[in-house]
Amino acid sequence: MIDLRSDTVTVPDAAMRQAMAAAPVGDDVYGEDPGVNTLQEKVADLLGHEAGLFTPSGTMANQVGLAVSVTPGTELLAEQTAHILRAEMGALAAVFGVTTRTWRGERGRIDREAIEAQIAPAYSPFLVSTSAIAVENTHNFGGGTIQHWDDLVGLRHVADKHGLLLHLDGARLWNAHVATGIPLSDYGRLFDTVSVCFSKGLGAPVGSVLVSSRERIAAARVWRKRLGGGMRQVGVLAAAAEHALEHNLADLTTDHDNAQHLARALGGIPAAGVDPTNVDTNIVVLDLGLSPWSAAALGGAAAQRGVAVSVLGPDTARLVTHRDVSTADVERAGEVLVDVLSQEPLGSGGH
Ligand SMILES: *Cc1c(COP(=O)(O)O)cnc(C)c1O
Repeated sequence: MIDLRSDTVTVPDAAMRQAMAAAPVGDDVYGEDPGVNTLQEKVADLLGHEAGLFTPSGTMANQVGLAVSVTPGTELLAEQTAHILRAEMGALAAVFGVTTRTWRGERGRIDREAIEAQIAPAYSPFLVSTSAIAVENTHNFGGGTIQHWDDLVGLRHVADKHGLLLHLDGARLWNAHVATGIPLSDYGRLFDTVSVCFSKGLGAPVGSVLVSSRERIAAARVWRKRLGGGMRQVGVLAAAAEHALEHNLADLTTDHDNAQHLARALGGIPAAGVDPTNVDTNIVVLDLGLSPWSAAALGGAAAQRGVAVSVLGPDTARLVTHRDVSTADVERAGEVLVDVLSQEPLGSGGH
């Protein structure tokens, strides 16, 4: 099976497993795991922040980052299809007492005017106060969209003007960095809290890091424990993350090239609803609105021919390239998908 459902399906390779096996470990609840401490410092440094916190998932990194930035009973602004709103199981409401309002950005982009128009002043007896704004870079459901640098800088000005904190869901910030060449620290310094993920394109089995000020990270550490995320000899996992950072970061360019291969193949048939110029990184979104195929039917037919795709909505399918699919795999997947989409769906396979 050529698995293009997500870049989370990668498995640790032999070199990464060796690094994990060799990791010196200690009890991280006591702050004594050397590999975890090194990783946290290194990632904080890379992103231009004072301190870091290793978490078991990107979701937990985002949520503890927001827990220390957004007071219960105040609100967070985020893009309508943000991962923190759509895929983190309502944690902001269910766990943290935070409400949200959204803007709709083209492919998940920042819309400064729409955001500024939504900001509600602090301490009003009439309206919920806005505390923070969250940005996703790259934007997952938007199709791996890279946020424009000018929009990020502009949003920082907006946040400062209104006294708001800025959170970056940087699960795939690595991809934006590799594609644009903009230093990670330039991206990182624009935000008060940043989460990054090692279990996506970098290929580690698990793990994220949240970076921020020393004070906020100390508070986030308490929240992590409260959520059951106090971890012990977790240096075996930090070793995988560190190995990923040292050895796999530059390979993301190959994933981006492979996504372009796929996008160009699919761009040749209007039914696929793919515009290669909208593919910024490693994610290709198919908009099947004009095709007789539903996303579910396409998913079924492709799977029968050895290609796994994600079904994100009735008309939306997603392909994600990653280090465990080769250029030859991707070329083969493109052929299969073009072939399937060039035919009529069988029986009730359509909309
Ligand atoms: C994957 C992802 C996360 C974190 O997901 P986990 O599965 O909890 O690691 C956060 N944000 C975005 C944009 C993601 O794609």
